[in-house]
Amino acid sequence: MKTTEIYTKQIYKFGDGDSEGNAHQKHLLGGKGANLAEMSRIGIPVPPGFTITTEVCKAYNKLGRAEIVNLLQEEITMGLHFIENIMDTEFGSPTNPCLLSVRSGARDSMPGMMDTVLNVGLNDETVIGLALKTGKERFAWDSYRRFVQMYGDVVMKASAHTEQYINPFEEILEELKETRGVENDQELETEDLKLLVKKYKARIRSLTGESFPENPFDQLWNSILAVFDSWHTPRAALYRQLNNIPENWGTAVNVQAMVYGNMGNRSASGVAFTRNAATGEREFNGEYLIDAQGEDVVAGIRTPLQITKAASVRWAEFTHTSEEERKKAYLSLEEYMPNVYKELDATQQLLEEHFKDMQDLEFTIQEGKLWMLQTRNGKRTGTAMIQIGMDMLEEGLIDEKELLLRMTPNKLNELLHPVFDPKVMKKARLITKGLPASPGCAAGRVVFFSEDAVKWQKENISVVLCRSETSADDLKGMSVAQGILTSRGGMTSHAAVVARGMGRCCISGASEIKVDYNRKLFVANSKTYYEGDWISLNGTTGEVLEGKIEVQEPTISENVNKLIQIADNYSVMHVHANADTPQSANVARQFGAVGIGLCRTEHMFFEGNRILTMRKMILAEDEEGRRKALDELLPMQKGDFVDIFKTMAGYPVTIRLLDPPLHEFLPNDAISQQELADALDISIGHVKYKVKALQETNPMLGHRGCRLGNTYPEITQMQTRAIIEAAIHLKSEGVDVSPEIMIPLTGIANEMIMQKHIIEKEINQIFIAMGDSVAYKIGTMIEVPRAALIAEEIAHHVDFFSYGTNDMTQMTFGYSRDDAAKFLPIYLEKHILKEDPFEVLDQVGVGKLLKMSIDDGRIGNPDLVVGICGEHGGEPSSVAFCHRLGMDYVSCSPYRVPIAKLAAAQAAIRS
Ligand code: ADP
Ligand code: MG
Ligand code: MG
Repeated sequence: MKTTEIYTKQIYKFGDGDSEGNAHQKHLLGGKGANLAEMSRIGIPVPPGFTITTEVCKAYNKLGRAEIVNLLQEEITMGLHFIENIMDTEFGSPTNPCLLSVRSGARDSMPGMMDTVLNVGLNDETVIGLALKTGKERFAWDSYRRFVQMYGDVVMKASAHTEQYINPFEEILEELKETRGVENDQELETEDLKLLVKKYKARIRSLTGESFPENPFDQLWNSILAVFDSWHTPRAALYRQLNNIPENWGTAVNVQAMVYGNMGNRSASGVAFTRNAATGEREFNGEYLIDAQGEDVVAGIRTPLQITKAASVRWAEFTHTSEEERKKAYLSLEEYMPNVYKELDATQQLLEEHFKDMQDLEFTIQEGKLWMLQTRNGKRTGTAMIQIGMDMLEEGLIDEKELLLRMTPNKLNELLHPVFDPKVMKKARLITKGLPASPGCAAGRVVFFSEDAVKWQKENISVVLCRSETSADDLKGMSVAQGILTSRGGMTSHAAVVARGMGRCCISGASEIKVDYNRKLFVANSKTYYEGDWISLNGTTGEVLEGKIEVQEPTISENVNKLIQIADNYSVMHVHANADTPQSANVARQFGAVGIGLCRTEHMFFEGNRILTMRKMILAEDEEGRRKALDELLPMQKGDFVDIFKTMAGYPVTIRLLDPPLHEFLPNDAISQQELADALDISIGHVKYKVKALQETNPMLGHRGCRLGNTYPEITQMQTRAIIEAAIHLKSEGVDVSPEIMIPLTGIANEMIMQKHIIEKEINQIFIAMGDSVAYKIGTMIEVPRAALIAEEIAHHVDFFSYGTNDMTQMTFGYSRDDAAKFLPIYLEKHILKEDPFEVLDQVGVGKLLKMSIDDGRIGNPDLVVGICGEHGGEPSSVAFCHRLGMDYVSCSPYRVPIAKLAAAQAAIRS
């Protein structure tokens, strides 16, 4: 089938207060084309032109040049007539030439990624016509040399023919400026510009072997097709990859009459923002250049001037030049061309009201007349995103739902973690890059052991804990470190999960780093870093940098609080937090969590001297020995629960019974083993024997979860007792407590039922002994695929399901979380996987297990409460999926609570 048969209209015209397209056709006209059409439609002065649709770009990729020229010929001719009529010029005319710009424009803006050619239609004849007609010879030749340069670069790819990809035109220009002894292009004479054109053309010929085409129609076609081609440049492809823009969208091409900002000192070109893109303040701002074409401003050829007087004054204060210099260098458009400024100001207000969002504008002034060349929703920081949204709500431009839908939940990250000064960061030397496991920034001295981290911290020295990987044993070190760096492990490795929970900056899987614990150093890219060296981590980007970069602490701003309050009114799901300590429970509460969805108990066993008692329990010969050790642990664990329940008064707290394999609690090196033997007064041989006996080839699939509780019921009993006694104790003090006991790693109904019996029996005994009771719930984690398959049966016996999607992902894919770092990055690079399933929930596979088991579970128990407590609970697209599955809540690390809340509200509004 030929494309001609599929699409009837390839070109949409705009200009002269009218247009064939509108702002809603971004998929077809690209962002730039759709908004040019819209601006023209609402009466804003836009040079006339037409947009060739994205469909043509797609077709071009399949059909090739000849067929596309054939397809477009007729419509382009009509489009040209349309422009010529309005401008009263003629394309290719030697006396009254029409010049065109040929501009790229994808559906989502990809700023600066694709190509644009300006001043198309100039040749040795038309340049003379243009000079005569305007009476400005210099301007005509300035436009011509710009055109030859851009065309030579974009269309004829002259740079690609140079040895080191250098721009050959810059070289020629610089040389000429030097011989003439001038600094700015503007100071060049007309004769110089003529010389440039000649030299440029010669250079093009020598580099590419082809002549610069004098025929304007050849120029036009070649430019159009070159812009289509620029969709495929490596940098555009990379940008799409980073921003999740599909390959098959293609770009539109806008062909538009040129307006001239380079016609002398009553002409100018500039860019502007309707509000401050960094802070969100309501402040029109921007930059412009007198006697210039638009590219100059963006490319930074000359230092631009400020548009507003206020900004000019502000900038002037930063300089040390004389009063006179200042005046010249900081001449605002507001002062220089007051009338044009007034019109521009009115236009920006109109555009913002029309598009109801902060706009990023491009404009050109031709001899005192203002033309708008582009408008789009401006990119902004997280702070600006919220500020602008809240302001627009107050101004009545948008309503609450629109406000919430506009927010990018993950951008809240920037507001919730410490940040580096971007200017300083740019200058710092990069050591290597790893996975951005936990956002935020940290600077500290390198240490390799948790004990050292603790020791140094006591002396008020900031540290970055640097390890091959971390284990539960490192918690202490991690909690005092400014940041954590590991060379192994992925986004859900121990280091990553724990760090996010603490809101601590962490980079994991920095595989170029080789840690040498013995010599206390690490090597990265053949450079060595020793204990005590300063390094800095950017957990948001994964960059590991040399030296100490200062950080700024964040606070949860009033704006974020307000935003979250609004979100709460719309969301259906609740947001709980994963918190293991009273401190993190406190953070969770401050960040708005309405419960704890996962309180891991294993970390409590590492606090202070508890680890010794824990080890005593593990090394005990029999049940009696274990019970003795557990009796010692009971009051400590109970104390923890008292504090957490108190912090979370009024909200449910879900406590998971002991989950990890026991070997994680035992020391591995000979020295620590000897110390342990001495402390417990047993033989080193026995310690070694036990360590060996507990060793497992794949502990993640081994003796853990409820398998522990069923082989050592006394552990379950002790934990149950600690939880329930703490609850009753607080209840008697008038604290509102809702304990929930969660059984981990259920795969067989019977293993869960057995745990439940142990728990219930223990609770009844406590109730009788204490002469009081407390309401409680018993539930299970669903994380083994088999549990999902028999969900209906399990649901009969429990009050709630909590999905542990980390383990579920691991077991459904058959990926070991700790080893996946070896191949996952390659899978992602090769697009075998679209996303890391440990980061973004796999909705198709793992999601199917979730959906099926929730539906089945609710058949088994209509009152079943369902939530998720895996790391996915704070990832926006996964949160939205949980909403669609009908979950009651999501639980995530405290610092992600606001993000999850926003995502939950968005999901509710969208459905
Ligand atoms: P990008 O997508 O990289 O911003 P544009 O297509 O917007 O590329 O073009 C870059 C610059 O070229 C614009 O900022 C504008 O100043 C200038 N420009 C584009 N079209 C015209 C035109 N018709 N008349 C004058 N200048 C133009
Ligand atoms: Mg632009
Ligand atoms: Mg688990």
